[in-house]
Amino acid sequence: MMLEFRWPLLGVIIPSLVIGLTAYGSHYFILRHHLSTTQQIIYECITSMVWISYILAIFTGPGQSPKGYTPKKGEWKRYCTKCQSYKPPRTHHCSKCNVCVMAMDHHCPWTLNCVGAKNLPHFMRFLFWVIVGTTYLLVRLCERIVGYYNDSDKPIYLIKRSELIAVIVFTPIDLFVLLSISLLFIRCLINIGKGMTQIEIWEWDRIDSQFHSKRLWKSIRLNYKQLYGKQLPQLSTWTNKTPIDEGEFAMEEISQDESSGSTSAGTSEIVTTESQSHDDMLEGDVDQDEEEEEIVPQNFTMDDVIFPYDYGVWSNIKYFLGSPLMWLVPWSKPNNNGFNIEPSVDYKEDDQLELPWPPDGGNQNITIPTPSDDELRSIKNYSQLKKQLDPRYNAKRSNWHNDMGESLDDYGVYIDDSDDDKL
Ligand SMILES: [Zn+2]
Ligand SMILES: [Zn+2]
Repeated sequence: MMLEFRWPLLGVIIPSLVIGLTAYGSHYFILRHHLSTTQQIIYECITSMVWISYILAIFTGPGQSPKGYTPKKGEWKRYCTKCQSYKPPRTHHCSKCNVCVMAMDHHCPWTLNCVGAKNLPHFMRFLFWVIVGTTYLLVRLCERIVGYYNDSDKPIYLIKRSELIAVIVFTPIDLFVLLSISLLFIRCLINIGKGMTQIEIWEWDRIDSQFHSKRLWKSIRLNYKQLYGKQLPQLSTWTNKTPIDEGEFAMEEISQDESSGSTSAGTSEIVTTESQSHDDMLEGDVDQDEEEEEIVPQNFTMDDVIFPYDYGVWSNIKYFLGSPLMWLVPWSKPNNNGFNIEPSVDYKEDDQLELPWPPDGGNQNITIPTPSDDELRSIKNYSQLKKQLDPRYNAKRSNWHNDMGESLDDYGVYIDDSDDDKL
């Protein structure tokens, strides 16, 4: 569950107390006796940067979905039932802030604010300056500990008691803050490098783990039908541009073409079959085994999926954090405005059927019954069986959680039954 305070204000009061007491307590009781004036000024400048970036992360809006936003013609339309309006791609409705947030990363209880398109740089600068400040302080605290060790032969009354207590109190606090914030910072940096928000990383993991599940493909098929008004073509690979692999499957595909009398050339990988069995695919009128095979394309892997907004590591960092020359400047902004979102060239060139992102983003009402014991016994492939036994395999998006136990709710995302994506 998402960390929630009974009094949300505690979310900012606690960090403020920790920052204030540790930074100024260490300065008063320890540092001012050992550092030069210049070193003390540097220390105070770092502390000020922590405060400035923290305040900006709290008070800068994450970037709300623009009023009156309408998707372009033919584009997948994402509708927020709470705000009663369309929202740009990558936007989610935050259940805490009760607004649609563009490129929502997560709702942060420690800033009482969402982290999104417009304030991610402030959030990252805050983490950065906390790491710089706690590292600087840790070095000075370690110097004092080494100093005590070297003076261990001296009489105890020569050691300043208040300073000793401060070292004992502030060292573990400083170390704890440094480690936890560093982990969060590294996690966020890796996400940014991939061009993804935390929520999108979560989606990616979900699609990966559910990739061959019926639920995911039923949803993809319904999305496709809603977009194009026809059934998803019978696919041999995700795209229709990559040359077909020569092999067993290719042969099967061609012989199927011939038997169904399709006029499609063998080079085309999307074969629209308008036979009755395809029309009935979603109604479940076909035989169970056949249906399984038809719904889930067997030769697809997660490697066929391309994340639409990955522009390459360097471009991703600039997209989220702005110009490198300005990264540490408190008021610098990201390169994106949150709503003019263009998919990457790789994505556009590699036809991904222009499905929404995530490809099963809409039509979440599908529920798949738990497989019966007999069905499970009939699965011979061990990895398939292992997947089927994972309760997350056919779980709805709103119920799925990643390996760390995080659900969309933990990031603050509001999901209604239709998963707030509608045409
Ligand atoms: Zn909304
Ligand atoms: Zn929020």
